[in-house]
Amino acid sequence: MTDPIRLDLVSDTATCPTPDMRRAIADADVGDEQRGEDPSINALTERVASLLGKEAAIFVPSGIMSNVIAILVHCRPGDEIIAAENAHIIGAEAAAASALAGASIQPIACEFGIFSGWDVEAAVRKTRYRSPRSRLINIEQTTNRGGGSVWPLDTIASVAKAGHAHNLSLHMDGARLLNAVIATDVSADAYAAPFDSCWLDLSKGLGCPAGSVLAGSRAFIEDAWWWKHRLGGAMRQSGILAAAGLYALDHHVDRLADDHENARQLAERLRNIPGIDVMTPNIQTNLVFFNLMGTGFTADEISNRLLKEGIRIGIEQEFRMRAVTHLDISLKDVHEAADHLERIIGLENAHPRAANERVQRS
Ligand SMILES: *Cc1c(COP(=O)(O)O)cnc(C)c1O
Repeated sequence: MTDPIRLDLVSDTATCPTPDMRRAIADADVGDEQRGEDPSINALTERVASLLGKEAAIFVPSGIMSNVIAILVHCRPGDEIIAAENAHIIGAEAAAASALAGASIQPIACEFGIFSGWDVEAAVRKTRYRSPRSRLINIEQTTNRGGGSVWPLDTIASVAKAGHAHNLSLHMDGARLLNAVIATDVSADAYAAPFDSCWLDLSKGLGCPAGSVLAGSRAFIEDAWWWKHRLGGAMRQSGILAAAGLYALDHHVDRLADDHENARQLAERLRNIPGIDVMTPNIQTNLVFFNLMGTGFTADEISNRLLKEGIRIGIEQEFRMRAVTHLDISLKDVHEAADHLERIIGLENAHPRAANERVQRS
């Protein structure tokens, strides 16, 4: 029998709807979304379009579907997308860009998932029959496997300038856009302005059970509707999901600052554990990636020990883990997780490899 998980730091998707969110869901006005008749969906899409400074928006079941639809609208088979090497669209979407849109992705080597206009200039293909056609730039705000880092506005501007010089479209994967907004006090529409399409996820830090909202020009959203239908993403009384989204936009945005503070405190504790390296020098949002190599433990070993205490932290690589703070994780919880990590890693003699490494390092 596996132990129940009490503290789930595996992702901010681990959030469960709060009692008040469940009440908002129960009270939702609904209609047939496919016919454009769901009042809650219509209210949510109008609200997100205006939040992101775009003409229109569309509700889809997941963040991945927002990325996939945007790529299908922007790209034709043989086109190429420019994205950070650790981008979600490269590593975590079952190759949808190639499987469904026939588009390849050129991975850009960069630190923290953030590249520059120069990188775009270097990545754009010459127009010739043997090359893919450069077509779209994808950026993540915040960068997931870049450690939750925030793309600064001027870096976005340099990438947009290079993209426009080569007639590329720009897409923002804004799974955690509102984390960036809260971390920096820059508005969502300022971040979204240079992008032809952008979306935000309701089921991450905002704490909803499902859904994302994709925004763009009226023409872009018109095309997006065709793909939403083709992919089977057109729903009926999905207003019960939109009601959660509207509730979250009212009540769960400002509190993202707590998640960021909790992540900072967790990172601080981890930095003080011998053998742990925290990936980002300064934690801007709610993701904490850390390397365990110096402890002599593998991520699997640490994970199994933590699970015995009812604590789950994500395994990224053999020696790399990711802890994510969110609505259901308090400051006390992150300190409890850190206490257990300290204790596990402090038991040097319980683990011969750790003891060896310690000797070598001292
Ligand atoms: C989670 C995530 C997605 C996908 O969102 P889902 O709602 O899980 O489908 C896309 N991009 C980034 C950067 C993410 O973190």
